[in-house]
Amino acid sequence: MDIEKKVWEVLCSEEDLNKRIKELGAQITEDYKGKNLMVISLLRGSFVFCADLVRAIDLKTKIDFMTTQSYGDGFSTSGNVEVVNDIKGSLEGYDVLVVDDITDSALTMDHVLKHLKEKNPKSIKSCVLLDKPSRRRVELVPDYCGFTIEDKFVVGYGLNYGDHYRNVPYVFVVTDQDR
Ligand code: 5GP
Repeated sequence: MDIEKKVWEVLCSEEDLNKRIKELGAQITEDYKGKNLMVISLLRGSFVFCADLVRAIDLKTKIDFMTTQSYGDGFSTSGNVEVVNDIKGSLEGYDVLVVDDITDSALTMDHVLKHLKEKNPKSIKSCVLLDKPSRRRVELVPDYCGFTIEDKFVVGYGLNYGDHYRNVPYVFVVTDQDR
């Protein structure tokens, strides 16, 4: 598939993202007042979203990163989720918020939540920019969600297409020009 032969249809504009992430940040600020917040960003997809989200959270916040991998066809997961770069420190006493770009089958978030729960955080919740509930392979409802979307392959704002386009500042859908 060659993206140059495709049409890009904007799904979430920069304005949409900015507005919704400010709302999410305000909600998280409210919910985590007096708590010991640690945000864990799942690489690589969530790095852009997480960078904006943490700047919309008005609380003392610790931030860490984890890398997961699941060999798939580039469009969906194989189901074998692996933590390839774990967080280094302890989670004891922390209210952990795991941030990802998108929940599709939810196998990644489910695996990460189970993996991190073994490190005994005080609490653990999930926050995703985009949610595709129609694609679930395990039951999971993100605690915080930017936008619920239909079953479409989305790119930009951290999400890749053949390992490119993560730097596009909005979310778009790839549609076939020939269709
Ligand atoms: P899940 O484990 O929920 O099936 O998928 C999680 C990961 O699959 C996401 O973090 C993302 O990297 C990738 N993914 C799922 N849907 C899409 C999509 O529509 N576009 C892109 N670029 N990646 C996706």
